[in-house]
Amino acid sequence: MIERHNPARVGELVGSVAATSPDGVDAVVRAAAHGQRAWAAVAADERASVLRRAADAVAPHVEELAVLLARESGKPLADCRGEVGFALTYLRWTAGRAPALLADREIDDDAGRLLLQRKPYGVVAAITPWNAPVILTMLKVAPALAAGNAIVVKPSPLAPLAIDRVLRLLADALPDGLLHAVHGGGETGAALVGHRLVRKVAFTGGAAAASQVAATAALLATPTVLELGGNDPVLLLPDADLGPEPMRRLVLASFATSGQVCMAAKRLYVHRSRYDEFLESYQDAARSVLRTGDPLHDGVSMGPVITAEAAHRVRGLVDDAVARGGRAIPLGLTDPATDLGGGHFVLPTLVVDAPADAPVVTEEQFGPVVPLLAYDDVDDLVERANAGELGLGASVWSADEDRAFALARRIEAGFVFVNTHNRTGMSLRAPFGGVKRSGYGREYGDEGITEYAQTCVVHAPAAFRAGGAGAAANAYPT
Ligand code: NAD
Repeated sequence: MIERHNPARVGELVGSVAATSPDGVDAVVRAAAHGQRAWAAVAADERASVLRRAADAVAPHVEELAVLLARESGKPLADCRGEVGFALTYLRWTAGRAPALLADREIDDDAGRLLLQRKPYGVVAAITPWNAPVILTMLKVAPALAAGNAIVVKPSPLAPLAIDRVLRLLADALPDGLLHAVHGGGETGAALVGHRLVRKVAFTGGAAAASQVAATAALLATPTVLELGGNDPVLLLPDADLGPEPMRRLVLASFATSGQVCMAAKRLYVHRSRYDEFLESYQDAARSVLRTGDPLHDGVSMGPVITAEAAHRVRGLVDDAVARGGRAIPLGLTDPATDLGGGHFVLPTLVVDAPADAPVVTEEQFGPVVPLLAYDDVDDLVERANAGELGLGASVWSADEDRAFALARRIEAGFVFVNTHNRTGMSLRAPFGGVKRSGYGREYGDEGITEYAQTCVVHAPAAFRAGGAGAAANAYPT
């Protein structure tokens, strides 16, 4: 049994799910493979209608799911509501978009007849993290099912409860065998990824688990999609608007979900000429939008971090920066009705004057601390922004959109936001994913759907059709 306690009130048991044994994983994958064959034969339009009905089946439960997600993950209730609602929006969007994208294309001309089909892989395995379990799972489930696959999800044991419930509600509205959850840690994940009947793996999480997943998949040459961490730089040009509204957006880009977001704003670069002004504006904005406390309390915008280990690690990053000459500035307000000692709370912190090689600058902090760094020259800024192995997101802030886009082209990241960052800058139609060691493959957008289909061809060359010119028996086409 996997038990989950509330990170905001550590003594409180939120719920549990049954761990899946290796035999259980095998049985589930076999059931999925069985169900998938019939599903692949259903027309894409009809599959889309079934998925819309599945979304309708979950919709009445959004509030109850949001409360469960808030209690198991420590994310503020409003964020959880938003996440579950957005996951349903994505499911419906995918259902609308997939049939046209996945339709057969046929060309019949002087060169011959060519049929291009987008066929499903078979059984997809999804391995997902705890920080946004509902949307990050839906980004795999919706396109995989729309393309005619079956899918088996292994959620993180740190937040398995709400997503387990979502998957059950969806599965009840789908034909038998198509959608399953298995529960456990790395071993369960490895049993799933290494199963012979799994034909594609979609993973979101950290670097260490990613290399294990990729290595296990490689033994069977199973294709993978990897969505990993980032160390997103924020590039504020000298003409950036530092008014209260954009500054509130920037603060939340770093501290929503207590900074535990792959595409959070993780390093702030401000031009030296506006450094003092920025510091003042940023702290003012933080006072107006950051309230740390129990995720279920009204007005709370930041909860605890996920575990005691995570709290320890993040505090260590701040202590290290201070030991190297940096200064820690606490941000925002706290909720007077919360016992902060009763959960894994880390207060939001801005670190100034940290050296460029401090881990809080060079590594993904994945917690509520962000370094502020000054720059003088844009070329040097680009070099610093592109330093390091990660390349998930970035943002450029400027009053001149063309100037921002020109600078954005020079940034090594899969997704550059302009005048915003993190979830406010996402779009259903914009493919999302990393470059460098932030992973490969894309979610969202058309690419996030076609990721779950492979192109298969039927071809009759014109030369060999009745009346064709023919060709030598072993010739290359001309
Ligand atoms: P994690 O890597 O610890 O765990 C992710 C999942 O992998 C969990 O379900 C875990 O049980 C499983 N797992 C671990 N070892 C495995 C193995 N050997 N075989 C199969 N499965 C295994 O990550 P986490 O702590 O849950 O999430 C945090 C990380 O995820 C951060 O680095 C964050 O940036 C990244 N992330 C990336 C995105 C994105 O879209 N790029 C989104 C969210 C989070």
